[in-house]
Amino acid sequence: MTAPTRVPVRTRTSADLIRAEEPVLAHNYHPLPVVVARAEGTWVEDVEGRRYLDMLAGYSALNFGHRHPALVEAAHAQLDRLTLTSRAFHNDRLAEFAERLAQLTGQDMVLPMNTGAEAVESGIKVARKWAYDVKGVPADRATIVVAADNFHGRTTTIVSFSTDETARAGFGPFTPGFRVVPYNDLAALEAAVDETTAAVLIEPIQGEAGVVIPDEGYLSGVRELTHREGCLFIADEIQSGLGRTGRTLAVEHEGVVPDVLLLGKALGGGIVPVSAVVGRRDVLGVLRPGEHGSTFGGNPLAAAVGTAVVELLETGEFQRRAAELGAVLRDGLADLVAKGVVGFRSRGLWAGVDIDPALGTGREISQGLLGEGVLAKDTHGSTIRLAPPLTITEAELVSALGALARVLGRG
Ligand SMILES: *Cc1c(COP(=O)(O)O)cnc(C)c1O
Repeated sequence: MTAPTRVPVRTRTSADLIRAEEPVLAHNYHPLPVVVARAEGTWVEDVEGRRYLDMLAGYSALNFGHRHPALVEAAHAQLDRLTLTSRAFHNDRLAEFAERLAQLTGQDMVLPMNTGAEAVESGIKVARKWAYDVKGVPADRATIVVAADNFHGRTTTIVSFSTDETARAGFGPFTPGFRVVPYNDLAALEAAVDETTAAVLIEPIQGEAGVVIPDEGYLSGVRELTHREGCLFIADEIQSGLGRTGRTLAVEHEGVVPDVLLLGKALGGGIVPVSAVVGRRDVLGVLRPGEHGSTFGGNPLAAAVGTAVVELLETGEFQRRAAELGAVLRDGLADLVAKGVVGFRSRGLWAGVDIDPALGTGREISQGLLGEGVLAKDTHGSTIRLAPPLTITEAELVSALGALARVLGRG
């Protein structure tokens, strides 16, 4: 009997690599059949050297494109100096990161974490602690009001208040203390908030739900209501924030300043996971030593890359690009309405595009786009999400819209 020969990694084709994953990799994703080997800016290249325009940008983790030179340089420089201390000691990069991130977002204090879900979990813990220590909610009675169709991550507590059965089923028992109300419904929110409410936690635009944008007045209404009721407004800007919508934060479109912001994804520049809870001093100030932490949170490599990300956003250039090119995206999508697109929602360089279900599922359309050299991903049913790097050129954006038109035309 001969032992099966392993094909050397470097000579494996895309098909080999996809087959090789099947027996050894948990099946919690269903990726499109492309195996990316390298990338630069808005372009990725697969194992065979085929090039694709990236219209997903790592779900907004790559707002500045792949391997932005300033971010790669910051990472390289830090790799050569210091990468991890743990928070048992101070490191010389963290103060600047926190100062500049707080300044950029108009808040006072930063709690550095790693992934988005950790920022959400940390925000929940801070809100509960605030409810007991400051608001005076009786022990273990704090509630947090959230919106239906939310996406805040994948931990057991976070899926406890998801309304997506695929994300929840089989993972109970769930964490109590959450009330779910319809999104974009101030009356329902008002009815759910009471003296036990620590916070209202919402996405200013619901990304995974299909880039669902609330009516004008909703976010300012949430702000007004939470002020009046004496509870916190926590905005999960993990996907909507950091330039995506044409502003630094999506809440800025309504001139709203939440008590707590949750940031992640693009904060790590597509290089390392960096997330943060950013908020007012009287809120984040409730945490005392030992009450919360993370071995990697605020590590010097993350802080160096995060600072470089903040530095890019301080110029306003990316927010401006997202706003200007967002108009090109919107006009291009408007031209496709009734030509395969049944509707769309967009803000800045971010769009949820509902495809005529007769033309195929969102996945089939994404497969078609892949064939045209464009990477995009469906969200639910027949909705495609477009979120290119904010570094995309107008010509590239127009070419992606052309590819979508061709795919829809064939349907
Ligand atoms: C992606 C996302 C998260 C979770 O972030 P992870 O880094 O995947 O844990 C939370 N909230 C929103 C709005 C997101 O888009």
